[in-house]
Amino acid sequence: MTTSKTTDNTGYKEAYRDHLGNVTQEGKRLKIHPQRPVGRHHSVRRIVSWVLLAILFTGPFVEIGGHPLLLLNILERKFVLFGVPFWPQDLHLFLLAVLSLVVFIVLFTAVFGRIWCGWVCPQTIFMEMIFRKIEYWIEGDAAMQRRLDREPWTQVKILKKMLKHGVFFAISFLIANTFLAYISGSGPLWQIITDPPSEHLQGLFSISIFSLVFYGVFARFREQACIIVCPYGRWQSAMVNEDTIAVTYDYRRGEPRAKLKRAEHETEGTGDCIDCGQCVQVCPTGIDIRNGIQLECVNCTACIDACDAIMDKVERPRGLIRYSSYRGIEENRRKLLTPRVLAYAAVLVVLLGVVTYLFATRDQLQAVILREPGKLHTDLADGRLANFYSVKIINKTFAEVPVEIRVVEPAAAEIIPLGDLAQVPPQGMLVGRFLLALPREGLMPGRNPVGFAIYADGRFVSAVESAFLAPHNVQKKGS
Ligand code: SF4
Ligand code: SF4
Repeated sequence: MTTSKTTDNTGYKEAYRDHLGNVTQEGKRLKIHPQRPVGRHHSVRRIVSWVLLAILFTGPFVEIGGHPLLLLNILERKFVLFGVPFWPQDLHLFLLAVLSLVVFIVLFTAVFGRIWCGWVCPQTIFMEMIFRKIEYWIEGDAAMQRRLDREPWTQVKILKKMLKHGVFFAISFLIANTFLAYISGSGPLWQIITDPPSEHLQGLFSISIFSLVFYGVFARFREQACIIVCPYGRWQSAMVNEDTIAVTYDYRRGEPRAKLKRAEHETEGTGDCIDCGQCVQVCPTGIDIRNGIQLECVNCTACIDACDAIMDKVERPRGLIRYSSYRGIEENRRKLLTPRVLAYAAVLVVLLGVVTYLFATRDQLQAVILREPGKLHTDLADGRLANFYSVKIINKTFAEVPVEIRVVEPAAAEIIPLGDLAQVPPQGMLVGRFLLALPREGLMPGRNPVGFAIYADGRFVSAVESAFLAPHNVQKKGS
């Protein structure tokens, strides 16, 4: 959607589409020094960012009833979301939840464009609300940063750069520790910190690598993460349309742009854009929003605030750049509930309904009983036959659960535990073995069906079916 008339020196109107805002015509990376954003959108974003940062940094350390609020232990496949544990056995639930999230993102993006990027994405929040602010604090505003970069390596410049990169690395180290706490839990992280380094070489190696990666992203790679790497940024161009709300320049009001003139007759026939370039100066991805919605725009709202400040100064109404849709600008009407949006919403409601139902009815205890392969049967001293079984009971709750395995059929069968099969630890698994003893009478040669029932705290939890193998001459003792 092109909305204005940026041309190159040949008159080609869409020259801006041929190269990225942070890359020169020769293909070299252009370091962006955006001006410090100020304004009401930025103030609200700052509050939202601090709230989200507080959640992010405390997530793995806050506990609900002694359990982590968030844990994403990929290595051991343990997940805790808002105090609710998920096990590998909940994979179907997990996949459906991820699918719901994808549909939600599609729906959200179709309606609100890339609002996620500007307001919620950790990359933008860390970059714009922490690292960029430290840069302003140490090196000054955009113009001072440019000047410092051009200067020779004086003592002051070396000190400033060392201080900046030292603070950057310290924060990256903090982020890496938090990241590891999400993966391994706060307990193992605390052990890595307090135990002798030689006992946790792998953990220390992981923290070092994460720290370097975060440092590299925020000190050097920066906006390229959003423009080149992030799949969501690419994906969103397929999801937005004329009705999607995004940070948009009102070209009907702004064009034809013209430098500010004092005499009234000189401004006749011109739009409200005074071509001051402030919206471009504050943009962290280096684009000119007046060219229309672009892939590089992360909806950070800095250009809205910058333009509003200019409009205040020239006594024209705010909102030349604002949240709107292409149709909102073109036809002055917004249409949120398009058939596409309604279809996505319907799919999302169905998916959420299924996930909620499955979640509400999922087993808190899951049991698997398998006849051990290899050994067919064994003779007991009292003349009965026995088979070996292995049992696994997973406890998804945070409390220790007393369990009992009972035989449902055949009635004459007896379970002889080979170890402790009475308790399942919280968030843990009971792994054990037992013998199932049966009198020879009534047994058929070969496979005989057996059924077990699992009781937790005296309550029936689940039934498990298996088989008992008897020899072909089962009726003869000592066979
Ligand atoms: S800040 Fe506003 S007035 Fe200035 S160039 Fe951008 S759109 Fe035009
Ligand atoms: S165009 Fe505006 S909203 Fe988009 S990234 Fe640049 S400053 Fe932020």
